[in-house]
Amino acid sequence: MTAYPQLHMMIDGERVSGGDRATHRVVNPATGETLGELPLATNDDLDRALDAAQRGFRRWRHSTAHERAAVLQGAARLLHERADALARIATLEEGKTFAEAKSEVGMVAGLFNFYAGECQRIYGRTLVRPVGMRSTVTKEPVGPVAAFAPWNFPLSNPGRKLGAPIAAGCSVILKSAEETPASALGVLQCLLDAGLPPEVGQAVFGVPDHVSRHLLASPIIRKLSFTGSTVIGRHLMKLAAEDLKRTTMELGGHGPVLVFDDVDTSRVLDAMVPYKFRNAGQVCVAPTRFIVQEGIFDDFVRGFAERAAAIKVGNGLDPVTRMGPMANARRPEAMERMIADAVARGARLHAGGDRIGNQGFFFAPTVLSNVPLDAELMNEEPFGPIAIINPYVGQDDMVAEANRLPYGLAAYNWTENASRQRRLARELEAGMVTINTTAVGGADSPFGGVKWSGHGSEDGPEGLEACLVTKAVHEA
Ligand code: NAD
Repeated sequence: MTAYPQLHMMIDGERVSGGDRATHRVVNPATGETLGELPLATNDDLDRALDAAQRGFRRWRHSTAHERAAVLQGAARLLHERADALARIATLEEGKTFAEAKSEVGMVAGLFNFYAGECQRIYGRTLVRPVGMRSTVTKEPVGPVAAFAPWNFPLSNPGRKLGAPIAAGCSVILKSAEETPASALGVLQCLLDAGLPPEVGQAVFGVPDHVSRHLLASPIIRKLSFTGSTVIGRHLMKLAAEDLKRTTMELGGHGPVLVFDDVDTSRVLDAMVPYKFRNAGQVCVAPTRFIVQEGIFDDFVRGFAERAAAIKVGNGLDPVTRMGPMANARRPEAMERMIADAVARGARLHAGGDRIGNQGFFFAPTVLSNVPLDAELMNEEPFGPIAIINPYVGQDDMVAEANRLPYGLAAYNWTENASRQRRLARELEAGMVTINTTAVGGADSPFGGVKWSGHGSEDGPEGLEACLVTKAVHEA
């Protein structure tokens, strides 16, 4: 069985740790036990990383697409070879089930393979000009990227932050969450072992506010890529605006799920209930507000609560577990606060509602109905295992509720009516809309939101485009 690795930063190819650096205690959320001590960056560490990123960009921007593709394909192969070890580390750090963690490895490998192909199709165009003149439009890598990845997908968030910039010819300084450092280092190591020059891909950790202020104040960094909460995203965008840096922002959501009375309720529940409680609900595209037509409302609530109560909650390394703990001590506290507020305002509790056990950060799959609009839960992203189910009569009201919040990440729909499906796809304010499925993404598909859920896309050709700048060249 893989032991939890020694923690370090990766700066200019060197494993950096120790000295008089402060450290952060990395904790197993299933047991509360300490996994390791993570070194936190000093100003000197960050300056070294910036200097290396500048050299890395000068070198990598001149690499051929074939070189970049070979690194990405090699890393994808290594990810598959190391899948069990990486998944175990992610489960130890974040708590999610081993099966979920392993599927993240597959997602990253798929993305690296997709970008290995896509980087060979970075095309420009030739403009029509008088004979003797030539005008071309070309694409170039934007420059060194500062990328901030959260803890909820310990492997695939870092994979997304690294894959597209490296494919585009950028260098990257990755600051992944301090809660899940070994997973991020494991992904980076696959790239380095596949031949990525060490100054092109680096990893630092630290006090998040210190690291982001330091990196974003540097003119070397030309792009900010952030996944996390809307509050922090707004703050980082302001820092990036000082130097007019390019931004890709993947922020919070509050996923609406519109369920119409023409569906097979059991089929919808069988798909949506496990999906709701995936990673203990700590997913930016998690379905949160179930907006259900009156005719099937009672059946839907009953079926949801029965399925939620039957979910086996436990240590993610135990094969019978279907939902692990929450990732850190902040999350169960937030769940308790939001549930108490909703119930005090008249919401009905049908399942869960409490912590489980007295070690780790376990919280029961929770189902609430008839939650009033002024409850905190109806306005703030719960980011946890809470499903809200409210009754509605007509489609217009359902769409209005879905679009009520300033968030617009993923919106889910269940209906067999074809004209309604097209209207929903048109009217919902979201970056990703699904009809009769939970599948919101894929390596070839843009992933991102609108309004307060951010802007720009990751994955797909759009994710690569976001790491490129456009240049027009006019020759007489
Ligand atoms: P948080 O807002 O403190 O942190 C979210 C992420 O941002 C973490 O990875 C953190 O390390 C990073 N971060 C925080 N401050 C930063 C700064 N000044 N500079 C750079 N990075 C910084 O919240 P949290 O308690 O870790 O998570 C809870 C909330 O975060 C949730 O309610 C959810 O809205 C959001 N979140 C969203 C995603 C997502 O996938 N969009 C992932 C994780 C957390």
